[in-house]
Amino acid sequence: SQKVKDAVLIPRYARVNEHKLTVQKAIKSFQNEGYTLVDCPEDLRELKLKEFCIDRHLHDMLIFHQKTDFHAHPLYVSGNIILQDKASCFPAHVCQAPKGAHAIDACAAPGNKTSHLSALMKNTGKIWAFDLDSRRLDLLKRLTNKAGCKNITPVHGSFLETNPEDAQFSNVEYLLLDPSCSGSGIISRLDHLVDDEDEKENDGKDSNGQTQEERLKNLSDFQISIIQHAMKFPKAKRIVYSTCSIHPDENEHVVKAILKNNPDFELAKRDSVLPTWERRGIPSEIDGNKDFADCLVRTVPAEDLTNGFFVSCFIRKSAAESNKR
Ligand code: SAM
Repeated sequence: SQKVKDAVLIPRYARVNEHKLTVQKAIKSFQNEGYTLVDCPEDLRELKLKEFCIDRHLHDMLIFHQKTDFHAHPLYVSGNIILQDKASCFPAHVCQAPKGAHAIDACAAPGNKTSHLSALMKNTGKIWAFDLDSRRLDLLKRLTNKAGCKNITPVHGSFLETNPEDAQFSNVEYLLLDPSCSGSGIISRLDHLVDDEDEKENDGKDSNGQTQEERLKNLSDFQISIIQHAMKFPKAKRIVYSTCSIHPDENEHVVKAILKNNPDFELAKRDSVLPTWERRGIPSEIDGNKDFADCLVRTVPAEDLTNGFFVSCFIRKSAAESNKR
């Protein structure tokens, strides 16, 4: 199917784990192995075998030919590089948590974004990493230990049940929200392809007997509740919401509902949300508001050669702004 073809065409993205290795050292190491560093071609499919380049948008991302297999590579096995899709590296960058910050990763497992956030915070400050699923949280513990993260506190439980007024969270300013979604943007995962087949065989209903519309409504209600809970943390000032879904219901429509119901928050402007990434939100899905759409980031697999992904960032309005209301 087209999906399988797209999956094959996605280049090999390798995030350098800056806890263990600088980007420069990673580059040297690959060069010593016989890889050639080139300027990123406009079309990444033109990268040849044994060539690699530094991503244009993310300083810690190297890109290799799609057939490069690093699963047995010493740098991967030792946690020096992390095999993570480029788009899924957007949220931690957009979060912009500085050294020493207190942050929450609300739906964290298996923890690739947590470990990325930890690296960007230079292993300082504190990150509470919540997940409802204990098996997945165990995986997060393993992955983040292997990656050398020392500023993460894993918490087993629902983020929705945490008390935002709890004194331990009183300095939490940054929240990363990557809640469960339909996964409709994921094209390189075979289990997703099987899901699609299931839907077809059951008159469009999934294994829970839900129609696609019902499923998306349940997911977006949950996603909205996660964002609104994050907004209750007294010092929350930058909240990144992402999905690996291509459905506006889980993306622009969720943002629209949040902006309507939470007047203390607004969208962070494009200049702090991957400004050089060209593909932005879909204006017609957010009341035709081009300014809002411009604050949002989308990726389209066939054109961007990443999974389908969505990123938004809410910031608390300044006191002066709020007083105007
Ligand atoms: N951010 C993760 C990463 O990059 O590795 C992927 C997160 S995955 C899309 C969503 C996660 O949310 C799942 O692991 C799921 O168990 C968790 N989850 C679902 N409901 C939750 C809740 N109420 N509180 C905390 N975690 C929840």
